[in-house]
Amino acid sequence: MNEKISLFKENGKRIDDRAPDELRPIKIKVGVLSNAQGSAYIEQGKNKILAAVYGPKEALPKHISLPDRCILRCRYHMAPFSTPERKSPAPSRREIELSMIIRNALESLVMTSLFPRTVIDIFIEVLQADGGTRCAGLTAAVLALADAGIPLRGLTAACAVGKADGKVIVDLNDLEDKYGEADMPIAYNPTLDGITLLQMDGIMSKEEIEQALSLAITATQKIHKIQVEALKDRFSVTKREV
Ligand code: ADP
Repeated sequence: MNEKISLFKENGKRIDDRAPDELRPIKIKVGVLSNAQGSAYIEQGKNKILAAVYGPKEALPKHISLPDRCILRCRYHMAPFSTPERKSPAPSRREIELSMIIRNALESLVMTSLFPRTVIDIFIEVLQADGGTRCAGLTAAVLALADAGIPLRGLTAACAVGKADGKVIVDLNDLEDKYGEADMPIAYNPTLDGITLLQMDGIMSKEEIEQALSLAITATQKIHKIQVEALKDRFSVTKREV
């Protein structure tokens, strides 16, 4: 167990001066890579993450293809320079698991039945990590899919909620993730009014979980608005900038 550190200041603010229900500043740019079919870059606090999409393209080898729909493949990866200590570039168990849960969260979003026998590759590359990278990576991946022109059922946005120093908080940074009492990443699609990712690490009471869920829906709705603005910016220019 980690040693205890105080995650709230005397003025009731968090260590990075946020209110309990406040998101970190978010900047998103869509269409940042010229070689990928779709791409997006997100900064959420100190997180810096790129997402790229290729496809739909013929699923090869053929035995992996499905006759009635497209397959999604996802790779979530943290660059060796994304953490204070160099991280091994080899995919860890954590990265393999996160790749799977992000792919599962995107399954209901993509209209896969429109593209039988094909595959869509989604890459999420964390350039700098500070807590909540699976959520920010997913938020960016959704925009990379939209940028690639892939038909989607709305836009999914993701954000972690959790608990630190006995209070329910939104969008945990690395210290809050490590030293807080609970971390609950959530992906929510306002169009489908559905949660497509929900994990939990730590302990919260039933009431705290209900409060956290409600804060997560509000937070993801705010992120959804930023996603929509980023897409509008992307398509208001006639050609890619790179
Ligand atoms: P998430 O980034 O989705 O919150 P975790 O809860 O597993 O995923 O990780 C929390 C944070 O811990 C990451 O955002 C990152 O800042 C840090 N972290 C994760 N893996 C490593 C690692 N191998 N080395 C150093 N820091 C890491």
